[in-house]
Amino acid sequence: MTDQTHALHRVHNFSAGPAALPLSVLQTAQAELLDYHGSGMSVMEMSHRSEPFEAIMAQAEADLRQLLNIPAQYKVLFLQGGASLQFAMLPMNLRPVGGSADYLVNGTWGKAAIKDAQRLGNARVAATTEVDNFNRVSSSHELVLDPEAAYLHFTSNETIHGVQYSQEPRPPAGVPLVCDMSSDFLSRPVEISKYGLIYAGAQKNAGPAGVTMVIVHADLLERVPTNLPVMLDYRLQAASGSMHNTPPAFAIYMVGLVLQWLVGLGGLAAIASQNQAKADLLYKTIDQSGGFYRGHALADSRSLMNVTFRLPSEELEKNFAASAEANGMVGLKGHRSVGGLRASLYNACPLDAVQALAQYMLEFQRQNG
Ligand code: PMP
Repeated sequence: MTDQTHALHRVHNFSAGPAALPLSVLQTAQAELLDYHGSGMSVMEMSHRSEPFEAIMAQAEADLRQLLNIPAQYKVLFLQGGASLQFAMLPMNLRPVGGSADYLVNGTWGKAAIKDAQRLGNARVAATTEVDNFNRVSSSHELVLDPEAAYLHFTSNETIHGVQYSQEPRPPAGVPLVCDMSSDFLSRPVEISKYGLIYAGAQKNAGPAGVTMVIVHADLLERVPTNLPVMLDYRLQAASGSMHNTPPAFAIYMVGLVLQWLVGLGGLAAIASQNQAKADLLYKTIDQSGGFYRGHALADSRSLMNVTFRLPSEELEKNFAASAEANGMVGLKGHRSVGGLRASLYNACPLDAVQALAQYMLEFQRQNG
């Protein structure tokens, strides 16, 4: 083999998830792959009850607690089944028999969340922006809230439509706020004490697919019914330290490396300002294109994570994505359900990738506008 076949070829990856991971994290994982810290084996080959793995898990939880400033009365769980399993676990655990839960529905994921909740019992749409084709989140004056709701659920960032809450909705007194934070988890500081429960699949900002983090106020665990299967029971999962069965050990290890990378960068305030700068650059490029590029989201609902936009025709959209790919920029095609283009700018997507994309957008418009 020539040296060239060994040369590192990394694309600018704008994929919505699984998504880019920090290069240094991948390099650490590579260096530790065959012999983790002198154990003579990979983390993949290690007992989850072994000392090194217990240390990995404890460090990951400690770093998550530090980064998000999680108060002591909250439990942190590392579960499987993706964020999608939380759509079901949440009502099973926190909605009493005969009770009802409120949902804000601002995109595909909020819709999926309430659908599962309704399969299992009562759930109400407290606000939705579906008539506007999910081009914005709900504003506070639109919410019709049930003061008796078991919880109020919202999706902080709708990955497919590219709309994001810049501030949490306010539930009625005594109603816990619950958030699907899958696609903006760890992208900015969050005041955990405003929430009863947060869940997030790892595969956007936090690591590879396979592990879902749940942060839940311990008081809510008292509501959990006693007849749930153990794997679906937050209380039992918390009591076993997410170790009732074999956890997704390698995925948790990778999340741990990403958390250490974030700590090293200066934490969530530091990454938030990078994320703002990246999104500003793309939205500015869209806004200054004289209508050639059209953002899907209304300005005050624009997602800093997923920038969704259209071109004058589907033909041009196809060409845009194809020739971007030929130029080393991948993952730009919008979700099949909505079409258009989508650039996902998660934590590990560096500014120079976004600068390359903005440059490419200018050039594409010059040639096709
Ligand atoms: N919620 C949001 C906001 C998402 O973006 C996704 C995945 N794209 C999901 C839930 C579903 O996640 P999973 O595939 O981990 O079940």
